[in-house]
Amino acid sequence: MDDKTFRNAMGKFATGVTVISTFVDGEEHGMTANAFMSVSLNPKLVLISIGEKARMLDKINEAGTFAVNILSEEQKEYSMYFAGQIKEQRNIEFGTLNGMPVIKDALANIVCKVHSKHIAGDHTLFIGEVTELVLRDGAPLTFFEGKYGKITSPVEQ
Ligand code: FAD
Ligand code: NAD
Repeated sequence: MDDKTFRNAMGKFATGVTVISTFVDGEEHGMTANAFMSVSLNPKLVLISIGEKARMLDKINEAGTFAVNILSEEQKEYSMYFAGQIKEQRNIEFGTLNGMPVIKDALANIVCKVHSKHIAGDHTLFIGEVTELVLRDGAPLTFFEGKYGKITSPVEQ
């Protein structure tokens, strides 16, 4: 099986989009990620998966903390920017929650300290213990078949 077929298959799983943020050596760093899941209620744990080539990997290893920012449908540009799909450098004004940089106006800012990690192939899975969160109303940005979208019509109950 080639990489493209694998990615095409994984792309059939519709997800939201997050920006992972952290703070190390006096600097904020952000990275777009859709590999995110809720893991445990007691204790409250979430999981993210970071590629071995991503600069974010060393930064989370060093900081021991990260935030997950769930993007709204108005925040596609943040996703593109923090995935390196917009080349020009921008001055991003982060918000702060529990001392962590967070994306303003995201649907949720979830601050975590690293609980455990597991290297799996070319990614590292970080399990984060949630220490603080903030929620906002709004609709999510989605990612399906490699394309951004929005939820237009909820399924009838
Ligand atoms: P960089 O390439 O270093 O940073 C990304 C961009 O953000 C750069 O332009 C950088 O200058 C800018 N930036 C970062 N911090 C700041 C700051 N403080 N101020 C101003 N600009 C800043 N990869 C994964 O490993 N796991 C995933 O789950 C994942 N999901 C993805 C989902 C989607 C929808 C997309 C589009 C990409 C996804 N990626 C994922 C790929 C990942 O987002 C990119 O490979 C990313 O560029 C790698 O991150 P990096 O830490 O090397 O960031
Ligand atoms: P795509 O068609 O590559 O993505 C479809 C799905 O494939 C993603 O939702 C993800 O589940 C999976 N996928 C893609 N790249 C992967 C990787 N390197 N490791 C594990 N799973 C991966 O979408 P696209 O618009 O071409 O993506 C833009 C860029 O972002 C690409 O370079 C892609 O590799 C990267 N990306 C990485 C991940 C990840 O590392 N988990 C997830 C999504 C996108």
